Amino acid sequence: MKITSSEFVISNTDYKLCPAADKPEYAFIGRSNVGKSSLINMLTDKNKLAKTSGKPGKTQLINHFLINKTWYLVDLPGYGWAQVSKEMKQKWEVMTKNYLGQRENLHNVFVLIDSRIPPQKIDIDFLNWLGEYQIPFSIIFTKADKPNNSKIQSNIANFKTELKKHWEEIPPTFVTSSAQKVGQKEILEYIGQINESV
Ligand code: GDP
Repeated sequence: MKITSSEFVISNTDYKLCPAADKPEYAFIGRSNVGKSSLINMLTDKNKLAKTSGKPGKTQLINHFLINKTWYLVDLPGYGWAQVSKEMKQKWEVMTKNYLGQRENLHNVFVLIDSRIPPQKIDIDFLNWLGEYQIPFSIIFTKADKPNNSKIQSNIANFKTELKKHWEEIPPTFVTSSAQKVGQKEILEYIGQINESV
């Protein structure tokens, strides 16, 4: 699939106010600073569709983008800011988990994992939560500018080993670099295949 049009539609704090659930939808989420905005911009070939390098404490929103007039790409607020208050963490939890659990046209959640660091408990806990609620997800390893680098490879292998402790099967995984534009084709093909099957 090629992306020929991508446009911002609306930002919300409540899944009930999101656009009508009449198109397939794919959400992107990860720890703050994981490279989510860069990845969304890389996928859509736009420099500034998603805002990069957000600050902790900024309003956390569910952002809908309409792609090729046929499906929604959803940019969800990141988790794991060290500095945010308990109250903000709770707000994130309620908003995001309601959206993920209730949005009927959500076909897949792409969970972004930083390939430059060892497995983090917060990511594994989040994936386990998705599993508990049977929300389909795939994993995108980010910032793999040099995918053959031994540190990157061992971080990815260790993450998969960690997942195997909790899961019989590992979901689809993608290795990406927004800086080097790696992984765009694979992710868009994957979304295209799901779109064709619904
Ligand atoms: P977000 O907070 O998850 O939306 O992350 P951003 O997209 O704002 O990226 C966080 C930081 O990681 C920024 O400094 C980016 O320049 C950097 N970054 C994002 N993607 C890549 C990548 O593929 N390679 C490298 N080297 N840096 C990246």
